[in-house]
Amino acid sequence: RWMALAAAASVLAGTALAAPPDPVARRAQALLARMTLEEKIGQLTQLGAEVPGPNKEKPDELIRAGKAGSVLWTIDSDLIARLQRVAVKESRLGIPLLFGYDVIHGYKNVFPVPIGMAASWDPALVERAQAIAAKESWVSGINWTFAPMVDIARDARWGRIVEGAGEDTFLGVAMARAQVRGLQGPALGTPERVLTSVKHFAAYGAADGGRDYDSVYVPEVLLRNVYFPPFQAAVEAGAGTVMSAYMTLNDVPASGNRWLLRDVLRQDMGFKGFVISDAFAVQSLQNHGYAADRADAATRGLQAGVNMDMASNTYLTQLPTLVRQGKVSMGVVDEAVREVLAVKLRMGLFERPYGDPARKEAVFNDPAHRAATREAARRSIVLLRNEGRALPLAAALKRIAVIGPLGDSGEDIKGSWTVEKGAGVTVLEGIKARWPQAEVTFSRGGDMQRAYALPWDANDGKPAPALMPAAEQQAELLKAVEAARHADTVVMVLGERANMSGEAASVASLALQGNQQALLEAVVATGKPVVLVLLNGRPLDIAWADAHVPAIVEAWFPGSEGGHAIADVLSGAVNPGGKLPVTWPRSTGHVPAYYNHNLTHANEADRLFTSRYSTDAPSSPLYPFGHGLSYTSFAYGEPRLDRSTARAGEAVKVSVSVRNTGTIAGDEVVQLYIHQRAGSAARPQRELKGFQRVQLQPGAERTLTFTLGRGELKFWSPVRRAWGVEPGAFDVWVGGSSAAQAHAEFRLTP
Ligand code: BGC
Repeated sequence: RWMALAAAASVLAGTALAAPPDPVARRAQALLARMTLEEKIGQLTQLGAEVPGPNKEKPDELIRAGKAGSVLWTIDSDLIARLQRVAVKESRLGIPLLFGYDVIHGYKNVFPVPIGMAASWDPALVERAQAIAAKESWVSGINWTFAPMVDIARDARWGRIVEGAGEDTFLGVAMARAQVRGLQGPALGTPERVLTSVKHFAAYGAADGGRDYDSVYVPEVLLRNVYFPPFQAAVEAGAGTVMSAYMTLNDVPASGNRWLLRDVLRQDMGFKGFVISDAFAVQSLQNHGYAADRADAATRGLQAGVNMDMASNTYLTQLPTLVRQGKVSMGVVDEAVREVLAVKLRMGLFERPYGDPARKEAVFNDPAHRAATREAARRSIVLLRNEGRALPLAAALKRIAVIGPLGDSGEDIKGSWTVEKGAGVTVLEGIKARWPQAEVTFSRGGDMQRAYALPWDANDGKPAPALMPAAEQQAELLKAVEAARHADTVVMVLGERANMSGEAASVASLALQGNQQALLEAVVATGKPVVLVLLNGRPLDIAWADAHVPAIVEAWFPGSEGGHAIADVLSGAVNPGGKLPVTWPRSTGHVPAYYNHNLTHANEADRLFTSRYSTDAPSSPLYPFGHGLSYTSFAYGEPRLDRSTARAGEAVKVSVSVRNTGTIAGDEVVQLYIHQRAGSAARPQRELKGFQRVQLQPGAERTLTFTLGRGELKFWSPVRRAWGVEPGAFDVWVGGSSAAQAHAEFRLTP
C-alpha cells in the first residue's frame, strides 16, 4: 500500500518514488528491485522436499536458481541445513528458505492433541507447551509450523475436530491467541520460536456432513460471529502467515477467494503477513469447477491473495508466462513477494537462517519438556462420569486388568500429527509404574483399525484387509473376559487409533469401531468394577457405557507421557479438572451438536413448537459443553453484578464465589455464559463469555470477577451488517458447565 501512496504522492509532487517508511519495507523493496521475474516467483513457491520441479529438477537445483522460497515435509536436519546453505550461499541473492512442517502438538515431546489442550481451559499452559514445541522445532531447522488450527467444529464426524479447540468461539479465541504467542513469541523474530500459520481460512470445520474437504455453506452472520474470531485473535497476536483452506466456501474456493483473503483478512482483520495455500490447493482450483486450467488457477490464486503456493508448483510453472504475456501484472507479483520477504526479514531469518542441530539432543532431553507434557496431559483429562465414587482407585489394589486394543499402544497414545516415530508411555506402562506392587495384566481383547485406508496409502479407498480373522477376534475377547474375572479392577482402554482421527478421518458413525462395544459389554457382564478410559480425538457414541460403566475418563490422545498422566488421575495422585470443549452428543444422529444455538419457542406457553427430537430420543446432550467432574465438589454463590443497568459501551462486572466443599484440593473451571434477550437479530440461548481455571484447597473459597465489556457483548448483526453492542436485557449464568444454574440479569440502556 505504501507503494501506491508513494507513487501517487510522487506523481503529485513530480518527484522520484519516496523511500518506504519502515526499515523492513525498505529492505524488502531493495531486494525486490534486484530480483528477476523467476526469482520473484521463486519466493512464492513452496517445494515439497521430495517433489521434483516442473522439469524434474531436484530441490537443490531449484533453490540454487532462486526458484523456491520455502520447503516443506522434511524433518531431516542435515537435509534442511544443506538446502539452507544452498539458498544462502549458492543462490544469487542469498534469500534464506522457510522450512515448514506440521508441528501441531509437540515435536519430540508430544503434548495432548489440540482438542485435549483446549480441554485444559488453561491458555497459559497452552502457551508454555507451544513454546516448547517451537524450541524443539527451531533447533531441528524447522522455522515455520502449520499451526495453530483454529477451525471451529460443531460436527464430531469431521475427523479434524481433534486439531482445534472444539465448538466454541470464545474458547477458540483464547486458544488461538495462546498458541500463536507460544509458537511465535511476543513478536516475530523472538529467538528459538517459529513462524506460525493459522489455518484453515476459513470455516473448513463446517464441511457438509462432516466429510473432510467437502463444500461449506456458512452464512456471513456465522462466519463473522462464530468462525472468523479465532483467526482475528491469531492475527492480533501477530501470526505471520495464514493458510487458506481447501474447500469451497459458499461456492467460491477459499484459496481463490478475494473477499476472504483481501477484504476480510487484510482489510477487516488487519493482517500484515502472507498467505500460504493449503497443500495443492492452488492447483485444485481447477477441480472445484472454478478455474478453467492450471494457468487460470495460478492467476486466480494470486489475484485472490494467496502469496505462496504450497507444493503444487502451479505458480512456478504458470506465472512466468502469464506475466510475460501481460495476463498477470508485475504489480500483483511484486506485492505478493514483498509480503513474503517482509515476514522473512521480520523474523530475523537473514540473520539466523539455521537451526542448531548440535543442541537437538540436549533440547529434546530437557527434563522440563518431558515434565511439561505430563503436566499438560494431566490437565487435559476430563472426568466424564464417576458414579458412587468409583474413582480414584485404591492404592492397595492387588490385581488390575488393563483391557482393550489401545491399552498398550505407544504410537496411538500420541494421536495424529506426530513428527517423529517412537512410542509414548502407554496406559499399561503408566499403571504398572503407579501400582508397582500389583499384578497388572494386559489383554487387547481384539483389534481394530480404519475400515478404509488413508487416501495417501497405496490401497486408497479400498477396505483395509482384516487385522484378525473373526474367530481370533472372539478368542481375544474371551481371553480378556477371563483376565477381568481374575482382577480386582478392570481398566478398559477404548476409542480410536491415531489415524482414525485427524485429516481424512471423517466418520459416518460415532460408534466404537471394531469389536470394542462387544468387548466392553462382555467385560462389564463379569460384574467386576470397570473404569473406561477413552483415547480419541472426538466425542464417540458411549451412551451404553454412560448407562453401565460407573467411571469414564476422557483422556483424548494425551501425548508421549500419556500413560503416566492417566495413571496419575486413576490413582488420585492428580485430581482431574479438565472440561469438555465440545458438546457430547447422545448418538451420531445428534450431530451437529453445539450448545450455543438459537431457540425456537423455548418458553412454557410455546412448548409445543420447541426445537427438539420428539419421537425417539431426548435432544439434550449426553454431557454438556463445559462438563467435567472432579474428585472434590464445588459450591457456587449467587453471581453479583456491580450494576444492574449500564450504558451500551460501559462494562459490567460479575463476581461469583466458588467454594471447595470436599476434602481434597481440586481445580474448577468457572464459566460465565450470557444471553441477550432481544436485539436486531436472534441471539444464541447461551454464549460463553468468560472462564477461569482455579485451584482450591478443601474448604477454601474464592471470589472471581469477570468483566463483560464491549468485546464480550458485541455481535455482528446480519440486519445492521455491522458489529455493535445493542441495548437490551441480558441473562448471566455462572457455573461449572454450560448447564450452569446460578443466574443474574442486567440491562444495557442506549
Ligand atoms: C493439511 C494442512 C497441512 C498441510 C501440510 C494439508 O493436507 O490440510 O493442515 O498443514 O497438508 O502438511
